[in-house]
Amino acid sequence: MDKTDLKSLEIEELEEIFLKLGEKKYRAAQAFKWMHQKMVSSIDDITELPQGLRDKLNSNYRVSNLKIAERLDSKQDDTIKYLFVLDDGNVIESVMMKYKHGTSVCLSTQVGCRMGCEFCASTKSGLVRHLLPGEILEQFYQIQKEQNISISNVVLMGSGEPLDNYNNVMKFFKIIHDKNGQNLGYRHITISTCGLVPRIFDLADEGIPINLSISLHSPFDEERKKIMPIAKKYSIREIMEACSYYIAKTNRRVTFEYTLIKDVNDHQKDALEIVKLLKGMLCHVNLIPLNTIKEFSHTKSNEKSVLKFKDILLKNGINTTIRREMGADVNAACGQLRRDYIERGYS
Ligand code: SAH
Repeated sequence: MDKTDLKSLEIEELEEIFLKLGEKKYRAAQAFKWMHQKMVSSIDDITELPQGLRDKLNSNYRVSNLKIAERLDSKQDDTIKYLFVLDDGNVIESVMMKYKHGTSVCLSTQVGCRMGCEFCASTKSGLVRHLLPGEILEQFYQIQKEQNISISNVVLMGSGEPLDNYNNVMKFFKIIHDKNGQNLGYRHITISTCGLVPRIFDLADEGIPINLSISLHSPFDEERKKIMPIAKKYSIREIMEACSYYIAKTNRRVTFEYTLIKDVNDHQKDALEIVKLLKGMLCHVNLIPLNTIKEFSHTKSNEKSVLKFKDILLKNGINTTIRREMGADVNAACGQLRRDYIERGYS
């Protein structure tokens, strides 16, 4: 594991390595293409490089490679959940969802998470480690290869808090966007955060127009603190300021995710407060029915209250949709599959 992962490096960094090894610069572009277009899993598979150079690389470098441990196909829809084993034996999960307009994947950015949201399975054993850019990319590549498809959209809504692994996630964006790699447009990428305010400002300054999604879950600081520990650090007002800055910089519409929990955050007063908060903002609300987990005793709001909640927002001019419950039969909520797998004693 001490060897540097070549798949985690941007093309300029690869060029430096090749030059240091006394090689020509163009070799870096070749290696990059083989790793990120052909999606090879080892240095030896980069057959465009001479054998001697591959041997030289193998002594100090490696290439991230994920193995599929489990694949669960939903019987209800076109959702497939993957459980991957990392080179160090840790496991992570990703989800593939087929829509009419294309295929979307939901990727993990950390093994575990340290944000501590009460309702989220990913955080229940804390943070194990950050994922490398190559390991985030590998989830995309493995699914693409296994399904023999071209993925059109990426959402960083799997396990982990992407802005808590800021540098690696930025590298992931740059590499997946590179024309010598997947050439995926930034507008096809969404990052979801529980609200790490300083990092939202940093992200706005990166100059990359990706979609920002904020996990709000309550419009009241005191209520939000009860279910999301991060709310003790950053207030909703600070999040809103960061979002306004993000919109001003990128001209992108921000999404607010709102998981509806019965009798916790699904009252009329919650909906009305969201209206006050978001009125006039270039944004959209995505209501998510709670996916129950055994560590959180609450249940999802009933259908009637979900529709009523949506209605209040819509009537007051807030764009609102209800997220389809995809893959509910394959434990598609973040972190659930990994926890089951670990508890079953396979890892
Ligand atoms: N750390 C990022 C990504 C988390 S997962 C974030 O907080 O945004 C993406 C979304 O799923 C978040 O809005 C998260 O709060 C929500 N989520 C987590 N567990 C859930 C559950 N059991 N039911 C419904 N939504 C959940």
